Amino acid sequence: MDKILIIDDSPVQANFLSSILTGDYEVAVVNTAEEGLEQAKVGDYSLILLDVIMPGTDGFQLLKMLQEEVVLRRIPVILITSLNDIQNEEKGLTLGAVDYITKPFHPAIVRARVNTHIKLFQYWNQVERDATVDQLTGVPNRRRYEDVSRKRWQDAIRLGSPISICMFDIDKFKVYNDTFGHPAGDKVIKAVAETAASKLRRGTDFFARYGGEEFVGLILGGGAESDFAHLQKVRQAVEALQIPHNPEVSEWVTISIGGITVHPKVGTAYDTYLKMADAMLYDAKRFGRNRVVWSNEKMEQWKEK
Ligand code: GH3
Ligand code: MG
Ligand code: MG
Repeated sequence: MDKILIIDDSPVQANFLSSILTGDYEVAVVNTAEEGLEQAKVGDYSLILLDVIMPGTDGFQLLKMLQEEVVLRRIPVILITSLNDIQNEEKGLTLGAVDYITKPFHPAIVRARVNTHIKLFQYWNQVERDATVDQLTGVPNRRRYEDVSRKRWQDAIRLGSPISICMFDIDKFKVYNDTFGHPAGDKVIKAVAETAASKLRRGTDFFARYGGEEFVGLILGGGAESDFAHLQKVRQAVEALQIPHNPEVSEWVTISIGGITVHPKVGTAYDTYLKMADAMLYDAKRFGRNRVVWSNEKMEQWKEK
């Protein structure tokens, strides 16, 4: 059930609104803007109903605060205004509210407007998911990766943090497909993606399908030694799935990983280092596959095995 947050200093009004929507939605009520902001951050809401006139921080101020928070600006806000308050309506819509409802409330109209905006919110979420998630594996897709990698690179520059870029590739996968068929190959890609993603799930990690049987990972704020060690665990976890490969190639399905840890500076290009990670992957293949090869910006190289 979708969750709705009502922010209104009048408990009577808030409870009446709540009673109109309870049943169709999970409704929470708070009576100040400050509580509203806190709730919005933790509550996973699909819609906020916000009273314009409140003592202290009013609805407009709160609307501005919500718009400034990346995570919160996605939540649609419907303003609650009085019938004779045309100017406030205009101001609210300009500030980014999606709609308004006027007092006194007509339950059927409140429900209809709320339903419309909840549907729109769900629709946009679905569109966003479809556009950024890889269908087969459920991990972020190439398009999402292009977006996130640029942002992470800028974050690393701004924070003065190291960032690791790594490329993953399934070993001898053409043989796997030729031996077991393409649908079985798809299942392997999915299993490998899920296993690797489950080991790169911190807020500062990122993992995506780069294309075909290749994946890309980013780790912000680690370091060459620890990230190299961690990626060995990821490689081992895939091997530990014990998915039988063509015995002429290897016992189990395995992956090779190439990575680089960089301290990026203003003016340095992400793509230069992505190419270096790819070169490390090439080395991992050349040195015998099922291994991790790592480097830093000084071109010092670490090899597994
Ligand atoms: P290497 O160890 O050098 O990486 O050998 P490889 O056979 O994995 O390398 P290559 O890049 O030649 O082959 C990759 C294969 O991955 C070719 C293609 O059939 C397969 N492949 C790419 N995308 C998909 C996919 O979405 N599903 C399936 N089942 N196979 C895919
Ligand atoms: Mg490949
Ligand atoms: Mg391969």
